Amino acid sequence: MSRRDDLEEQALKIIIDKGSDGILQSAMWRELKASSREGSRISLRLEAKNLIKRERELSKGRWTYRIFIKKRLIAIDSLLEIPCMFCDYTYRCELDGEISPATCVPLTKWLFSNEENPETS
Ligand code: SF4
Repeated sequence: MSRRDDLEEQALKIIIDKGSDGILQSAMWRELKASSREGSRISLRLEAKNLIKRERELSKGRWTYRIFIKKRLIAIDSLLEIPCMFCDYTYRCELDGEISPATCVPLTKWLFSNEENPETS
């Protein structure tokens, strides 16, 4: 797993752990030991994947964002096992494209493994 994917995964775990309280962006970057630039990129990627939402908030006299998980998840472990979560081809993957979920081996394997173990989906 690349550092980028690793940070995204760690960020997602942190955000999920905070539940409905969410977490300020700056606090999350500190927990991740990431720079604000690196943290902002992670945040934007997770937002583009429709996993988080950011709400503007005034904190200590400065505008920032509080980050919340967008979708309630059954279990973080099952989410993190979905191959699309940290796939380098996410932005190029389309149903009728050259890279497609219809022909994706990792996704097919994951789907079949969940069919065999339905309690993990
Ligand atoms: S379907 Fe396959 S190629 Fe497409 S995003 Fe998911 S893991 Fe990546």
